[in-house]
Amino acid sequence: MAKTRPGGIISKPKTGKRDLDSYTIRGTTKVVRVGDCVLMRPSDTGRPSYVAKIEAIEADSRNNVKVRVRWYYRPEESLGGRRQFHGAKELFLSDHYDVQSAHTIEGKCIVHSFKNYTKLENVGAEDYYCRFEYKAATGGFTPDRVAVYCKCEMPYNPDDLMVQCEGCKDWYHPACVDMTIEEAKKLDHFMCSECASDEDVKRSQNGFSASSLAEVKARLFSILFPFLWIFIFVVDTSVLITLMMGLFVYAKGFQSTLDGLLSVFIQNVALGYWNLEIFCRDTNTVLAKFGCREQAPEEMSAVRSVKCTGRPKSSCRFNL
Ligand SMILES: [Zn+2]
Ligand SMILES: [Zn+2]
Repeated sequence: MAKTRPGGIISKPKTGKRDLDSYTIRGTTKVVRVGDCVLMRPSDTGRPSYVAKIEAIEADSRNNVKVRVRWYYRPEESLGGRRQFHGAKELFLSDHYDVQSAHTIEGKCIVHSFKNYTKLENVGAEDYYCRFEYKAATGGFTPDRVAVYCKCEMPYNPDDLMVQCEGCKDWYHPACVDMTIEEAKKLDHFMCSECASDEDVKRSQNGFSASSLAEVKARLFSILFPFLWIFIFVVDTSVLITLMMGLFVYAKGFQSTLDGLLSVFIQNVALGYWNLEIFCRDTNTVLAKFGCREQAPEEMSAVRSVKCTGRPKSSCRFNL
């Protein structure tokens, strides 16, 4: 499908033509040079201007200026037509060359690279962008692949607001993630549903592993703690009973059960279970400190109080 342009193709240039460096757009002071992009008046007044890149500027012997141009196609002029991801200012650099009268140039424009276009703070009427080259005869594009974004897997249309997910860094159309454009504009942070659920799982896993470890330790401790004390109690008691029995039989120096009990404690100390201080209950002074039988003082008969210093006080004070 050939593209119809105003003026048609100029026949072979006549002799006497010369190349020009620039051309001043008629009725303006705007200067067009080779390599510039220009807007050209369409034959149909209702149509948008054609966009072309100036390849050469020539003047013939009668000083008629012609420009050799390479056309940019608008998406709707391509064989495939305009697609959802095509922006309003999108152009395709075609392989369609032409020669036109310079009089059809009505203004200058800038065709940015796609990347530069997306970085523009303000897009003016003269700003366009091109990310594809277009073969007019076949309707083929170069590149024939382009990155796609969002759930809808569409190439980026710079006219459409998109929000970037902080997790996967993909971009999403608000409508594709059940959001209005207004809501999307207000967002400070955005996570797509997949990343959000991943995050939830991760958070709960982390939470579980951290808390479960602490929980297991705490539980284990709370379960074992009473057994620990039972164990200590049983051992101590068995030693105590053994020694008491021995004492009643052999401790002839003691006259009463009370003295016998005290002796048991002393015996216990000798076995290394206790580390005792012997107090006088009346004066609260330490009469003796000892941890073995050999150190057992002669002042045993004066002992009124026995205090263990090797264990928690609450369970270690024995008043006799
Ligand atoms: Zn989408
Ligand atoms: Zn994501």
